[in-house]
Amino acid sequence: MGTKGRELVGKDVDKLIDALNRAFADEWLAYIQYWIGAKIAVGPMRSTVQMELLEHANEELGHADLVAERILQLGGTPLLKPEDWFKVTNCGYETPDDPGVEVLLEQNIQAERCAIKVYDEIMKLTKEVDPITYQLALQIFTDEVTHEEDLEAIAEDIARMKKS
Ligand code: FE
Ligand code: FE
Ligand code: MG
Repeated sequence: MGTKGRELVGKDVDKLIDALNRAFADEWLAYIQYWIGAKIAVGPMRSTVQMELLEHANEELGHADLVAERILQLGGTPLLKPEDWFKVTNCGYETPDDPGVEVLLEQNIQAERCAIKVYDEIMKLTKEVDPITYQLALQIFTDEVTHEEDLEAIAEDIARMKKS
């Protein structure tokens, strides 16, 4: 981003870059958590769950890309090494020790709820000062809300199936 664009964001630009880097770390960890979960999933509706997890993995990677682009535009540097993701992450990484679909879905639902909060915070931080980042956060927020809904719907179907 040019000098003027950076100036408009104002004195909070470094704080914003830090918040975006925490979100960037979250996206990578979400990508990996989904990707490995899709590989190892076992149990009811396995192929549906695998397809959904893999689709979400790819969307999280897309988010990492969008966030990294914005960090660069703001004059920051996206975190350069995975060790740093673990130091700054908001939402962490849940190891899928149990490959059962219900457990995987629940772990990823928790991660989505965390992601929704993260982008809600970034929207609050940028609403008045940085419409470009605000738009980006809103776009990703919308995806995360859809992710949560998609996973909850599958978990509900599995629960119903087991009852009947
Ligand atoms: Fe995401
Ligand atoms: Fe998501
Ligand atoms: Mg989906």
